[in-house]
Amino acid sequence: MGTIMETDLVYQRVLLKLSGEALKGTQPYGIDPGTTAALARRLVAIRDTGIELALVIGAGNIFRGLGASRNGMGRVTADHMGMLATVMNSLALQNALEQAGAETVVQSAIPMPQVAETFVARHAVTHLRQGRIVIFAAGTGNPFFTTDTTAALRANEIGAEAILKATKVDGVYSADPETNPDAKRYVSISYRDALAQQLKVMDSTAFSLCQDNEIPIIVFNFNEEHALGEILRGDLSHATLVSSAG
Ligand code: UDP
Repeated sequence: MGTIMETDLVYQRVLLKLSGEALKGTQPYGIDPGTTAALARRLVAIRDTGIELALVIGAGNIFRGLGASRNGMGRVTADHMGMLATVMNSLALQNALEQAGAETVVQSAIPMPQVAETFVARHAVTHLRQGRIVIFAAGTGNPFFTTDTTAALRANEIGAEAILKATKVDGVYSADPETNPDAKRYVSISYRDALAQQLKVMDSTAFSLCQDNEIPIIVFNFNEEHALGEILRGDLSHATLVSSAG
């Protein structure tokens, strides 16, 4: 990656969406301390470039509401459990980030003042300006939503210039690259074309929030060590930019 200087950055404030699985490592379930520590070191290196970094983390490594409701649990209860699981991930990540040297604030959409600050967009922006990493926990606070939608909502609320969506593939492809050898990665694509081609970038609620408010989504492979640094310098060699321009 080389050292990224603040003058190289094409963004000043971004929101990074990680799925809960980013904390799991090779374990089948839960939070792997070594994986979480390594992730934290990478994020602190990004923050050290001078960029304002906000995070949303999912909970697929612990609990997903939809899966539990398919197995008979009431959906609202299951989603409450999913949101609480994102709080656990956020606290684990906060702890690792602080151990790696970055002051970090967790803001929860569901008030739990002994555990985390309550989400207030204005306060989040103040923290970011002061160089703290801010993690938005407990999703949107509402059942029937996802942490992708949380990322889209919070990015708009704090005025982030882009959502960086960390996935297992290095962008958006014309077909599933795991099953179709002819699948091509887009360097950039418009919201309209992504919708028309039914390319799964985010769930539909998250996607329309981004489209309506013209917030760019950058999809990249988090396992590619250099990808995040490249994106922040405007290099999309290992990513796809979804925006109104395409
Ligand atoms: N969730 C919710 N409302 C929200 C965000 C999340 O109810 O606004 C719940 C939902 O049950 C979801 C779980 O939290 O399955 C974990 O989030 P997600 O599935 O998005 O995690 P990821 O797949 O990114 O790890």
